[in-house]
Amino acid sequence: MRGIAASVLVVSIALATAGAGLILHQKLKPAPVPTPAAPVAGLPSGPPDEKTPPVPGPVVATTECADNPRALGVSRIVEVDTTGGPGFGFEHFKQHDFLRDKEVVLTFDDGPWPHNTPAVLAALAAHCLKATFFPIGKHAAWHPEILRQVAEAGHTIGSHTWSHATLSRKSRQDAIREIEMGASAVRLAAGAPTAPFFRFPALRHAPDMLAYLGQRNIAIFSCDMDSFDFTMRKPEQVVRSVMTKLEKHGKGIVLLHDFQRATSQALPELLHQLEANGYRIVHMVPKAPLQTIAQFDEMLSRNNQLAVVSAGHGSTVVRTIREAPH
Ligand SMILES: [Zn+2]
Repeated sequence: MRGIAASVLVVSIALATAGAGLILHQKLKPAPVPTPAAPVAGLPSGPPDEKTPPVPGPVVATTECADNPRALGVSRIVEVDTTGGPGFGFEHFKQHDFLRDKEVVLTFDDGPWPHNTPAVLAALAAHCLKATFFPIGKHAAWHPEILRQVAEAGHTIGSHTWSHATLSRKSRQDAIREIEMGASAVRLAAGAPTAPFFRFPALRHAPDMLAYLGQRNIAIFSCDMDSFDFTMRKPEQVVRSVMTKLEKHGKGIVLLHDFQRATSQALPELLHQLEANGYRIVHMVPKAPLQTIAQFDEMLSRNNQLAVVSAGHGSTVVRTIREAPH
C-alpha cells in the first residue's frame, strides 16, 4: 500500500509567515464539559432531531486562554488539500512529511463516547488545543450531542467507517457503504461541515478503497506512531507509550482513542509532559469540507441538506495557514 499516491501528488509546504502570531489570540478558555447522554442500546436510534437548527461551523475563538499560563496552545495550523486522496502517517505513507522536529498532531479515534470524549475535550480545552477526531458513524448516531461539542470546540472531524468494519474483508460495495454511511452519519451528527479525512479501522488499508477515496478526494490518515492505548487500562501506560515513541521519532501524528477511558484520564498528564518537553501541537484543517453523497445522507435522514462546496485543485497539498512565533 505504500507509495499509493506518490504518482499523482506533489507536496509543497508553504510557510505562511504572515499569519505568525495569530494563534496566540485564538487560545480558548476551557470549555464546559458537556453532560454525556445515556447510551442507546442496540442499533442506532436514527438521525438526530431534524428540527434542531444546524450548529455553525468550527468556532474561531478570540478569547485568551488565560486560566493556564502553561497551556500548550496550537503552534501551527496546516491546511490539507485532499484532492486525489493523499495519504498521511509514516506507518503507511511516506509522501507528505509536513511536520517539523518536535511537532505533534493529536488524533482521536472511535468516539464519540460518553464521559471519555468529553474528558478529552476538557483536557484539550485546558491547553487551548485543537485535535483531529475520527468518529465511528454508529457512535455518532448514538451520541450526536457529544460530537456537536467536538465540532463546537473547533476540532477537525473526519470519519472512521459506519461500524468499524475491516474493509479489506468486505466486498467493494459493502466497503463503500461503510465509508460513505460513516461519513454521512458523522456529518449529520456533527451539525457542521466535517473534513474529507478518513482513517481505516485497525489501519488495514484495502487497496481498492485507497483508490476509491482518491476519487472521492478524501485524505487517508494512518499515523506516525500508534499509542496502542486500546490495550492499556492505566493512564500512566498511555502517557509512557506516547512519550517514549515521540522521544524516538522526534515528531509525529499520534493515534489515540477518545473512546478509551484510560486515554481520557491520561490526557491532562500527557499534555503536561508534551509541554514540559518542548513539543508543539499542529492542527490540521481541510482546504475544503467533505462532500457527502446524497444516497447515503438519505439513508440517514430524509431532509438532510448539506452544503455543496467544490474541492480545490491547487498544487499545495499541505500549507501553513497560521503560525505562532517561536
Ligand atoms: Zn478505530
